[in-house]
Amino acid sequence: MTSQEIRSRFFKFFEGKQHTVVPSAPMVMKDDPTLMFTNAGMNQFKEYFLGNKKPKTSRVTDSQKCLRVSGKHNDLEEVGKDTYHHTMFEMLGNWSFGDYFKKEAIAWAWELLTEDLNIDKDRLYVTFFEGSDEDGLSEDSEAYKLWKEIVPENRIIPGNKKDNFWEMGDQGPCGPCSEIHIDIRSGEERAIVPGKELVNQDHPQVVEIWNLVFMEFNRKADGSLEKLPAQHVDTGMGFERLCMVLQGVQSNYDTDVFTPLIREIEAITNSKYGKEEKVDIAVRVIADHVRAVAFAIADGQLPSNTGAGYVIRRILRRAIRYGFTFLDQKEPFIYKLVDTLSNQMHQAFPEIKSQKNLVVNVIREEEQSFLKTLDQGLVLLDTIIANAKDKNISGAKAFELYDTYGFPIDLTALILSEKGYTLDEEGFEKELQKQKERSRAATSVTTGDWVVLVEDDEEEFVGYDTLETDVKIVKYRAVSSKKEGDMFQVVFNLTPFYPEGGGQVGDKGYIESDNGDVAYIVDTKKENNLIVHYTKSLPRNVEGRFKAVVDKNQRRRTAANHSATHLLHQALRTVLGDHVEQKGSMVHNDHLRFDFSHFSKVSPEELQAVEDFVNARIREQLPLEEQRNIPYQQAIDEGALALFGEKYGDTVRAVRFGESMELCGGTHVKNTADIWHFIITGESAVAAGIRRIEAITLDAAKEYFTTQADIFKEVKTILKNGKDPVKAIVSLQEENNTLKKQVETLLRDKAKNLKGDLAAQLEDINGIRFLATRVDLDSAGIKDLAFAMGKEHQNLFVLLATEQNGKALLACYISKELAGERDLNAGQVVRELGKYIQGGGGGQPFFATAGGKNPGGIPQALEKAREFVK
Ligand code: ATP
Ligand code: MG
Repeated sequence: MTSQEIRSRFFKFFEGKQHTVVPSAPMVMKDDPTLMFTNAGMNQFKEYFLGNKKPKTSRVTDSQKCLRVSGKHNDLEEVGKDTYHHTMFEMLGNWSFGDYFKKEAIAWAWELLTEDLNIDKDRLYVTFFEGSDEDGLSEDSEAYKLWKEIVPENRIIPGNKKDNFWEMGDQGPCGPCSEIHIDIRSGEERAIVPGKELVNQDHPQVVEIWNLVFMEFNRKADGSLEKLPAQHVDTGMGFERLCMVLQGVQSNYDTDVFTPLIREIEAITNSKYGKEEKVDIAVRVIADHVRAVAFAIADGQLPSNTGAGYVIRRILRRAIRYGFTFLDQKEPFIYKLVDTLSNQMHQAFPEIKSQKNLVVNVIREEEQSFLKTLDQGLVLLDTIIANAKDKNISGAKAFELYDTYGFPIDLTALILSEKGYTLDEEGFEKELQKQKERSRAATSVTTGDWVVLVEDDEEEFVGYDTLETDVKIVKYRAVSSKKEGDMFQVVFNLTPFYPEGGGQVGDKGYIESDNGDVAYIVDTKKENNLIVHYTKSLPRNVEGRFKAVVDKNQRRRTAANHSATHLLHQALRTVLGDHVEQKGSMVHNDHLRFDFSHFSKVSPEELQAVEDFVNARIREQLPLEEQRNIPYQQAIDEGALALFGEKYGDTVRAVRFGESMELCGGTHVKNTADIWHFIITGESAVAAGIRRIEAITLDAAKEYFTTQADIFKEVKTILKNGKDPVKAIVSLQEENNTLKKQVETLLRDKAKNLKGDLAAQLEDINGIRFLATRVDLDSAGIKDLAFAMGKEHQNLFVLLATEQNGKALLACYISKELAGERDLNAGQVVRELGKYIQGGGGGQPFFATAGGKNPGGIPQALEKAREFVK
């Protein structure tokens, strides 16, 4: 069976049990502050388990893209080394939301594996929760009994809390689980050691394939458990592991999920999989990581320096680094695998095909820049070694290399050992630990239990129609973090406050009771589909009735920026073309930011056209046309734009201004005239193929004009030429140019004098007239000086260095006859020495220059120059 067929078989089986197949949620989390990436199939259904929302149907099944590289589930370091953990993998699941429970879940899992898929029963083991004194829980005898009806007793194994009690996090829904393990070893091996002894012992051929979680408790802040009002089933089966079993191979990497990628890696890197452990690990790491990175980018998460983007960057760098060291890849190559990946996966996940160009460009650019970092890191490491007092390199130095330059620590260790040095690994670990604690302290949040005042169903958002309404507090809890301090999260029965989402910031405002009891709302966010309001202090009487009032000014400005963002999107597609797709958006009350796919810089003329287009729509005074609950497909058919990496329900809200129509949950102006005016304030690159536009509207635009007028007034005053400031500036520039030329001439004269001094310093080394020195000249002066010396002396090798405006410059002159006879090349000299000043350059064999950003490296460059003539 191909992996495609296996996936469909799974769905078909559960469809037969009245389950609805639903799509995978994006792998990158958008509105859950506790998670960066989806790490289990249940993430997208958390809101149902928490009771924040009612599911439309009580039985669903899907294949969820998961990523386990951060937080509670982090398999990154294992990946590639073993054969059955991935960073990104598919989790097949079936769910019951308050519908069936243990009996059906267990029976169906067994039926699917042993009857439908024909897996040998003698290779399967199952576990059940043995109980925990700490939690006052007895063993899950119900699960045990159910298993006993279908599985021989000696294949049912009790399991501890670590393996057999599933928790979403420190708090929240949880419950006992039953795992299904498979033994894929050969008959002989099984005869020697029974599989039962290897279950949950990290054996690569006795692995867990499926986990059936029975959600029946809620873990409270004090660690105690309470029974959930309804009981749920949440199962997760590793798709790649299931393929391994059904395709009769011993490693996930030998299934058709991975073999096409591995063949491609072998071809590109000219290596062979299955011959040498080190190479094999590298090949697996690359085959695995390209999937994680490609799908994250397709989901809208670009590699970056912070948060989720940084995690993605680190995964890609791990792959690059394995290719660099073990497959000898010094040029970008991972991006070339995206084509194979797309061909293989687009049927199940179409986004990988539609976003292919972007994915390829982004990966290639990341590869280029990291390979450059590796090069520079190698030079830095040379410097560290050169300055080392003994043969042991301190952990702090290695950490600096790792932290500041992203240079992988295992590579540092490898190079050091090759050169006969050792690394103080303990010291490094200490530094790493310190850094982890710093960031943990900065982001850790403690949450109290909800104090429930009123039982209530879904909290309705009424903020599209009103900014003021009467509310009651349904529940609240204390939250505390280093960043925000002590706060309360408050939930109302209904709310006019817009929760941060779709790039738009959350509303601020206050709630007030009749007798003046006030609490200020400083932010509003969505957490598992619940709208939570943040306040520093609760009102005195939380059970009272309150008037909830949204800060009108902030909302008015934010709405103007959000509507302008839609018009900007439309303008970009009109002016630049239909390839423009939204890749990120931030709508604040004082400005907006819009990231989109486009292959080149947007020219000033294009920017002007975009700005004009938006302002024309503003002047047309287009009214807002809003459809709140239309079926998704209908909205798309009517021409609405949907975003990649966004999770939409069956019904959506469509927002239209004239020809612009988007699926959007944000708040908007009633008429485009309310935007007043649109000004683009910046255009820049975010990544390969992604541009960013920043802009302002309304009050900020008004302020912009006032400030510009003030600056202009001031310029006129300074120039003392009220009538024609432009003319005054032009004449100042002309004067400046003349002065510059005079300075240049003076500097050249100075260079001529220098020539005599330097001639006296020439050394004779192996018949070469050699000089490497620092001079105080600009780039033109340095060149003149070198050529002038070249005219006067034969067999000359000169390296001149200078520092200008904080940058370093090297110039190398080699007499033509030397360049020929001794195989010396000025271009090569500056390229190699350029590393010491953190830069590069080039030129001809007899004359070349290099610039760099590290003047501190000049002495070393001068010193190393000598080696070329020795
Ligand atoms: P393991 O002990 O093997 O790491 P787990 O206990 O972390 O597994 P669960 O969190 O229960 O696994 O996830 C459900 C299923 O998802 C597992 O039974 C397994 O088949 C699969 N799975 C878990 N982690 C990975 C991974 N990193 N790569 C591939 N499949 C995985
Ligand atoms: Mg695990």
